[in-house]
Amino acid sequence: MTDGATSRPPARRPDERPAAAGVPEETTVGIIGGGPAGLLLSRLLHRAGIPSVVLESRDREYAEQRQRAGMLEQTTVDVLRECGAGARMDREGLVHDGIELRFDGRSQHIDFPTLANGRRVTIYAQTEIVKDLISLQLSELSDGAPLIFGAEVTSVTGLTPGPEGPALHYTYEGRERTLHCDFVVGCDGFHGIARTALPDSVARTYEREYPFSWLGILADAPPSCAELIYAHSSRGFALHSMRSSSVSRLYLQVPNGTDPADWPDERIWDELDARFALSADPGWRLNRGPITSKAVLPMRSSVTEPMRHGRLFLAGDAAHIVPPTGAKGLNLAVADVAVLARALIRHHTTGDTSGLDSYSEDRLRRVWRAEHFSYFMTTTLHTSPDQSPFDTRLQLSQLDRIASSRAAATELAENYAGLALSD
Ligand SMILES: Cc1cc2nc3c(=O)[nH]c(=O)nc-3n(C[C@H](O)[C@H](O)[C@H](O)COP(=O)(O)OP(=O)(O)OC[C@H]3O[C@@H](n4cnc5c(N)ncnc54)[C@H](O)[C@@H]3O)c2cc1C
Repeated sequence: MTDGATSRPPARRPDERPAAAGVPEETTVGIIGGGPAGLLLSRLLHRAGIPSVVLESRDREYAEQRQRAGMLEQTTVDVLRECGAGARMDREGLVHDGIELRFDGRSQHIDFPTLANGRRVTIYAQTEIVKDLISLQLSELSDGAPLIFGAEVTSVTGLTPGPEGPALHYTYEGRERTLHCDFVVGCDGFHGIARTALPDSVARTYEREYPFSWLGILADAPPSCAELIYAHSSRGFALHSMRSSSVSRLYLQVPNGTDPADWPDERIWDELDARFALSADPGWRLNRGPITSKAVLPMRSSVTEPMRHGRLFLAGDAAHIVPPTGAKGLNLAVADVAVLARALIRHHTTGDTSGLDSYSEDRLRRVWRAEHFSYFMTTTLHTSPDQSPFDTRLQLSQLDRIASSRAAATELAENYAGLALSD
């Protein structure tokens, strides 16, 4: 340094333990990725006394600010409570009894408790779940398992029986390092590397890309409704969601390749009002407020099978992604790690491998159910660029069926509010 300043470690937050003198070189479960899936898995294992290490390529600030999901199924809420991460969610989360469908100028409430065996959903942002889990992991009081930010895993070896056990090779502070473990869990999202460790002869990926995207905004405006509104409109799909009683989260269907800069704030609000229009209440308008974030999200479905290869397990977006219309991505990730944690704990305590052996098959069954539901919601509510009037009439017929038939509404409610972890 030329200015005489001395380098010092970054300031620690009050809830944070000092960094360990050295990074661990071995553990029982090596977890790639500190998103919701990786953090939650580590937490569930920690409570059962099973050591794990989470390697996360980004820094803490990035992980805590990434805007994503916000609708939690009952099972997700239960798992977060079970692992001691539910206190703030229970205080600040908004419990919803259903959703509103708008189509053809009409409004239809879908009541979850009545249709889906008493199940409800909770609105609590993924960013807050991640903050809660990181805070627990790093706090002196809870003494969680090691979570190392800035640790990018570059390869995975030793997955099948052989003299070398499983190992994660990663870079940290400019050095190549290795973490030896008994099991590897890839929780590294859609762009991670764990999936690439499946040999080509074993892996099979099924994909669909959609010919539209979402323009998502966060606005400092109180929600204009008590529940989420899913709107079918000749102008394209719109969704009204919320993050809290003072922050709205809204989405507009836009063409692929849209630049958010082409959407000034006034244009966004006017378009949202047009898509949410109601015949019976032509004066209905959204509450407006300063837009604090604007981003375009592509829409894609993808599943990679199997979700296990030797000592490697895939969980969350590392194995599957869904278009967000069904709000399933985060909930599937939580369900994967809840089931995997149970199987690892059973193996650790009794030597029984049955849960590990059936993990991929069991989860894929649920994953494909969620894939179908997300596809159904997406194709029923969006307008394709090549959509014909015939296609639109079919969509409206389907929505009318949901509004008029208890059986059709039940099918939607059960899938949306979420199925139990196992049959
Ligand atoms: C822009 C966006 C908006 C979304 N909106 C919604 C929504 O509204 N509703 C909904 O239900 N779902 C939504 N989703 C999906 C939901 O957020 C995901 O399903 C959820 O984040 C999955 O969690 P995960 O832990 O599996 O993966 P991720 O959250 O992707 O976490 C993976 C982690 O692994 C880390 N990582 C990657 N590679 C490496 C490596 N080589 N080494 C170490 N670490 C690595 C990443 O930095 C990341 O922190 C959205 C997703 C995106 C991308």
